[in-house]
Amino acid sequence: MAPDIQAPPARNLTLPLTLGFAVAIAAASVPAARALADLIAPAPIVEPVAAASATPQPPAPPPPAYAFDAPLPGREVASPFGLRQLPWEEGGRLHEGVDIAAPSGTAVKVAADGIVARTGTDPGYGRFVEVRHKDGFTTLYAHLGRNLGMKKGVYVKRGTPIAVVGDSGRSTGSHLHFEISRKGRPLNPAHFMDKTFASADDLPLKAAARVPRKVRLAQVSRWPEGMKEKVAARRAGKGQVTRGEDGRVRVRIEVAAS
Ligand SMILES: [Zn+2]
Repeated sequence: MAPDIQAPPARNLTLPLTLGFAVAIAAASVPAARALADLIAPAPIVEPVAAASATPQPPAPPPPAYAFDAPLPGREVASPFGLRQLPWEEGGRLHEGVDIAAPSGTAVKVAADGIVARTGTDPGYGRFVEVRHKDGFTTLYAHLGRNLGMKKGVYVKRGTPIAVVGDSGRSTGSHLHFEISRKGRPLNPAHFMDKTFASADDLPLKAAARVPRKVRLAQVSRWPEGMKEKVAARRAGKGQVTRGEDGRVRVRIEVAAS
């Protein structure tokens, strides 16, 4: 930090001129020190350069302990974390991540430094990449298009493109489904994206784990193939219970009494 070099007010020159005072002024102000030196010669002058370099530079702040990038920088969350009911479902269930809309082919960047834990294709998630981070954090990127060469065990640095946005799996249009979890517990990614935390104590773990009771009805741009017929059959009393992509899906089926 630069020392404050505001010149002292002129009235200071009328004060008794002692060497100590001159030195104090010299440390604070170069022009003032020169003016005083003329008045009180042959007193020794403290070199202002020496005085300036004696000021210790404050140490650079330590890097944050945790930093999470947004996987699609600048793109908005189209569907948030929380209880959500899709139009073809009979009840709400937890949307364990956020949906970020983007055109197919947009690069998906890994949120934090980590190691690829899993890649693959799932009926629900479609093509996905899962990355393990320090302290039990995991991020998951789903409905992907092309995987950019990511394999289990690959070390990835924050911001590395790992895949491109797609529309694979049970998707309702081109978007990224992005999850953050810690020790298996889903967290609201909105509390982490584009944020840094100085230490583990600053992590918003409680707030991010909170799931509001309200169930949001999701707006979707299109229904998955065959779903309309399935729902029609179910509503006609011929329905059967189906499980979701991860086994945790809760679909309440009410068979109409005939
Ligand atoms: Zn989603």
